[in-house]
Amino acid sequence: MDVPKVPRRSAASELAGLLDSPEISGLITELDETRWTGRPGYPIRAMVGMALAKSLYAIPTWTRTVALVSEHAALADAIGGTVPSVYACYRFTAKLRRYSDLLDACIARVTASLGRELPELGRDVALDASDLPAYANGQRFVSKGGRERERFSDPDASWGHRSAVSTRKGGGFYGYRVHAAVCARTDLPLAWTGETAGSHESNYVAPLLDATKARGFAPETCALDKGYDSGPIYDACEDRDARPIIPLRETAAVKAGKAGPPTCGHGEWRFAGSDSKRGASKWRCPTGECKPASRWVKADRLHPLVPRETPRWRKLYRGRASVEREFGRLKNEWALSPLRVRGIERVRLHADLTILAKLSCALSRARAIPLAA
Ligand SMILES: [Zn+2]
Repeated sequence: MDVPKVPRRSAASELAGLLDSPEISGLITELDETRWTGRPGYPIRAMVGMALAKSLYAIPTWTRTVALVSEHAALADAIGGTVPSVYACYRFTAKLRRYSDLLDACIARVTASLGRELPELGRDVALDASDLPAYANGQRFVSKGGRERERFSDPDASWGHRSAVSTRKGGGFYGYRVHAAVCARTDLPLAWTGETAGSHESNYVAPLLDATKARGFAPETCALDKGYDSGPIYDACEDRDARPIIPLRETAAVKAGKAGPPTCGHGEWRFAGSDSKRGASKWRCPTGECKPASRWVKADRLHPLVPRETPRWRKLYRGRASVEREFGRLKNEWALSPLRVRGIERVRLHADLTILAKLSCALSRARAIPLAA
């Protein structure tokens, strides 16, 4: 992408609509109240408008965002008529980092409003991590055997490893990783965090589920890929009343045949429901001839409350694709990547602003379309 995109969608009116929404205008008002110096500067509404436009039009840099808005009168009008300078945009992002609590509150208002518009939002969630290669150069030395690189280094970025999945090649990458919980029914992100690439995904399951709940959602199930298949992850989900939906890795216990339904001389036992309070699933002898003919199996990694043998598990696991789809959209259509900032605080702000723009658009669309019968 060498030239700024021509505004897509109904562009300017959409941007103005977002700025006027109660969720975003609340942020503008709160930021306005933090102006401690008498320096006039650009109106906060114009600055927030620039930040939204950057994601809306998937523009990687402020320079191009300023160019785009300057070239399109309707866009400039939408943010109030005056186009801020590139330098003002940088200054504004510094301010947003300082007032990240206000930005968090704004995001929470948007997710809460989405929850009111979409009653099923957050009932089933999918959780995963995605790579964000650093803007900085990952080479530690300027040349082979040369001096250590200083100017282009990003002290917060680190080396991470990704496994080969389908057509994607595995290997190391340098930078960051976004961990996110998305709604498996709508693909909308509900909670996320930017971390360094070396961060291990399993450490973010509990915090992301807690953050999702803190935003007012009550996930009943949580779908994760094989990389999360370890005992503590199942406990983290169950402790938060979400049924873990995770495929099994071929561990020793699995190879020894300890997973799956109980069996008897009459064959494989049938699933007869789960009791989450009891923390166990019930299984029955296929012919009912055994005494007792049914028994409870305590929930664990090998015997989750939603058994892997059931159609429900398979359906919920298909929902896991939502998180990958959403990462793809955020990267390709909303410019989540490639990164053009260094340092974890800037990377986090970039992710927050990108996802805020995405969610705000989803909200304005949900409001435009009355609830389907
Ligand atoms: Zn039997």
